[in-house]
Amino acid sequence: MASFTLTWSSLTSAGWPSTCQICGLWFRGSANNRAWCSDCQQNCAPQVARCVHCALLAPHDPHEADTAFNTSSPYSNAAAHWRCGACASHPNPWQWASAAVSYAYPWAGMIVRLKHQQDSALAKPLAQLMVQDRICRDTLASADVWLGVPITHRKLGLRGFNQTDLLVDHIAGALAHCRATSNWATTRPLVQRQDHGPSQQGLGRQQRLRNLKGVFSLTPAGVQATAGRHVVLVDDVYTTGATLTALASAVQQAQPASVHVCVVARTPQNGAAVQ
Ligand SMILES: [Zn+2]
Ligand SMILES: [Zn+2]
Repeated sequence: MASFTLTWSSLTSAGWPSTCQICGLWFRGSANNRAWCSDCQQNCAPQVARCVHCALLAPHDPHEADTAFNTSSPYSNAAAHWRCGACASHPNPWQWASAAVSYAYPWAGMIVRLKHQQDSALAKPLAQLMVQDRICRDTLASADVWLGVPITHRKLGLRGFNQTDLLVDHIAGALAHCRATSNWATTRPLVQRQDHGPSQQGLGRQQRLRNLKGVFSLTPAGVQATAGRHVVLVDDVYTTGATLTALASAVQQAQPASVHVCVVARTPQNGAAVQ
């Protein structure tokens, strides 16, 4: 006699109805995203033109925006890509940066909940946002190493998890065909972060850069994993870029083939966190 077992995973994979956390309507969720509906994602995460080096939103100039957007890959035809004035005058210690969405409603609230309200279940749909963005996906899928930005021990103790490791974990699940090494996937950490200095919140880029000098260092396993490899630094939010700059500078010591940056959300202006 045939038996039928109702499990939670069978319900979710079958599309168990959920309430969208953005519009409040019922929708058929998936195993990857039971947090918001596809209509809300489409409306709130449009594909937009960004600076290829810092992911800053391109100005609403149709010519510049078209120039930045009419590209097939973040790794080719660099001259055709738009870059902002700050990146033109002060290049970052990485090549390309991509962001799935802008740090604004509703994504800013989701990230705040993930980080500050311990809502770790949001890591999976936020990672899905990244792999569903064309440029983020190309960047992540081309990498040999995904490196989530380490948080301080103090924050790790308060939060109980590093949100960037959760993001990398779910990116790895979504891009299962990739064999990228990550901090999360190895028992030996690839990069270490020293705990010193005040919180970075509310500080400007220069002050943050001073505070972060020498904070990150690759472990011997990290040097081995990144030397001559394509590395992507993964973070939840790009605000001033100071943390990513400090981490990228540490990774550059190992002479990787390339370093790129991929984040869930980019603030609309340098240093401005809008919620
Ligand atoms: Zn919705
Ligand atoms: Zn830029």
